[in-house]
Amino acid sequence: MGDLPYSEKLKKAGFSSLLELAVHTPVSYLDTRLSDSIVPGDLHTLEIVVIAVSRPPKRLVATVRTPISDRPIDITIFHPKPYHAALYKPGMRHTLQGKVERFGTKLQMVNPRTVPKTGAIIPQYKCRLRQDLHRRIVESLVTVANLVGEGLDTARAELIVRAHRPDETWLKLYKRYGGFGPRTVEALKFSEALDWFRRMRGKRTHFPALMPLTGEMDAFLRKLPFELTEGQRKAIDAIRRDLGGEMAARRMIVGDVGSGKTMVILAAAMMAYPHTSILMAPTSILARQLYDEAKKWLPDFFDTALVTQGREEGNMEDAHFIVGTHALLYRDLPEAPLIMVDEQHRFGTEQRKMLEQLVSKNPPSSILHPPLSKRRPHFLQFSATPIPRTQAMIDSALVDVTLIEGTPFEKDITTTIIGKKDFPGLLEHIAKETEEGRQVLVVYPLVEESEHIGYRSIEESEAFWNERFEGVYVTHGRDKNKDEVLQRFAEDGNILLATTVIEVGISLPKLSTIVIVGAERMGLATLHQLRGRVSRTGLKGYCFLFTHDTDNERLKAFARTTNGFEIARLDLKFRKSGDLLDGKVQSGEAFKWLDMAEDEEIVREAKRRAVSAYGEF
Ligand code: ADP
Ligand code: MG
Repeated sequence: MGDLPYSEKLKKAGFSSLLELAVHTPVSYLDTRLSDSIVPGDLHTLEIVVIAVSRPPKRLVATVRTPISDRPIDITIFHPKPYHAALYKPGMRHTLQGKVERFGTKLQMVNPRTVPKTGAIIPQYKCRLRQDLHRRIVESLVTVANLVGEGLDTARAELIVRAHRPDETWLKLYKRYGGFGPRTVEALKFSEALDWFRRMRGKRTHFPALMPLTGEMDAFLRKLPFELTEGQRKAIDAIRRDLGGEMAARRMIVGDVGSGKTMVILAAAMMAYPHTSILMAPTSILARQLYDEAKKWLPDFFDTALVTQGREEGNMEDAHFIVGTHALLYRDLPEAPLIMVDEQHRFGTEQRKMLEQLVSKNPPSSILHPPLSKRRPHFLQFSATPIPRTQAMIDSALVDVTLIEGTPFEKDITTTIIGKKDFPGLLEHIAKETEEGRQVLVVYPLVEESEHIGYRSIEESEAFWNERFEGVYVTHGRDKNKDEVLQRFAEDGNILLATTVIEVGISLPKLSTIVIVGAERMGLATLHQLRGRVSRTGLKGYCFLFTHDTDNERLKAFARTTNGFEIARLDLKFRKSGDLLDGKVQSGEAFKWLDMAEDEEIVREAKRRAVSAYGEF
């Protein structure tokens, strides 16, 4: 095996890269250095000679002597096998390892293991090959020189090599920490991130764009009655660099609800002008809203069309900007060098697959661009599902990612955690808000009839609210008249009682307060969405988290921030610490060492290093 090339050895051990092998650390260390004194309770490695053997039922008891103690030691083997009997015969010498314990006046060792070779610290791996084979591969490949050759710095390389080949001092520290020290863990995380970026480099395919797009945005920007936010400007700049280039863009733009993504979409359409761009939205309501906004903000020379199921407005053939739902996927679309998707997170897997085909199919040949077979449109996706920043950086190996931080109006929402005793104060607040014409939403957890969760259900609470307030409306997800109830509430209601599943399609500009009952039962992402419903129009907003667990750390953290990316990070952090919530598992959990909630700096540095070591992505 010694002569096998590098990659063959790795493959044999089941690893695809040296860094992957390097971060696959030992699970424990077998220390076979001989003990020099007996400390009852500790693990010892002892040279012994067998004095006497007896065989009580189901046991083998051997009395042995060791040069480092005057007292004999009783070795007990439960359920002995034939090889034990062969091993323990008077006069035989072995090296044994096990815990020495005091048993009355005697010393004893139960089920010790025999040690073939003494005086070493042998790493123990979970591996697919035999231990000794795996160890030999690690010994020959995981060296400081090789790791530095993979782009790692010497300091981190040394820390990692040490974890595979510890010395006495290192092992002492390892035992004291009960695992790897913080610097070793950091080196492992860094290597894992570096390896990720290195491997993903090969995965991402680059295609030439149909054409570079360099349209002017002045006519659009001049018409806007407001300044773009810094987040919007950064996103537009990134898109401008993308679209002006020779390569087809693949970018994901993530921004909280209300961060102003529509303006970024329209700016991109301006850059594509006079060529066609296509925008797909998940519902016809959204498609229409976007269409209306496009007509409002884009300059008059822009022709816009709307395509939804069985409906078409404007003329798709001549349009500069085509907005539609997935109905677009079933149409013959004109050649478009820019394709965009809004609210990407709301599309199903099937639709995403079709979209993927739409942006990767060979466009019809054209006299303008003869060698078209490999050209692709630019593709921009917009999403409102905040992801932790670290996750965004990890994802950026495969697709460019831009986060729009901040919103045009920083919402002024005060979040308060309240318990039962605070209820009278809450009622006063509600009375005051409703008297001044503002509205209140009270959200109840969705409960099965049989379940008992210690909070009143929406049905049980209806009478309570009706006795105290006028204009109380009730609706829940299964309610057939939901839209009508919402419409009436929007016009003249004071308090709306609803369950979490409610999707408020219409805007509620007078909503100033939300009360979330049993808040500790909900994921932070859900709480964030619910809180985002108030103060849409700049009203002073209030969010009350009603809970029996007013000391809840997760809720306290939530109350301190309104930044969606920070909340996504917190959500992941608390999820990891075992706080069971609704929602999905994140892709970041594929990593052994990296933590998407904590390791932003490490991943940032690893990405920089990857770029300088292996080149631009
Ligand atoms: P998103 O799609 O990210 O949820 P929208 O694009 O719908 O957000 O924008 C939310 C609201 O903010 C809209 O009414 C929009 O006109 C307004 N808006 C967008 N950008 C700005 C800005 N820079 N300054 C002020 N208002 C803005
Ligand atoms: Mg939007």
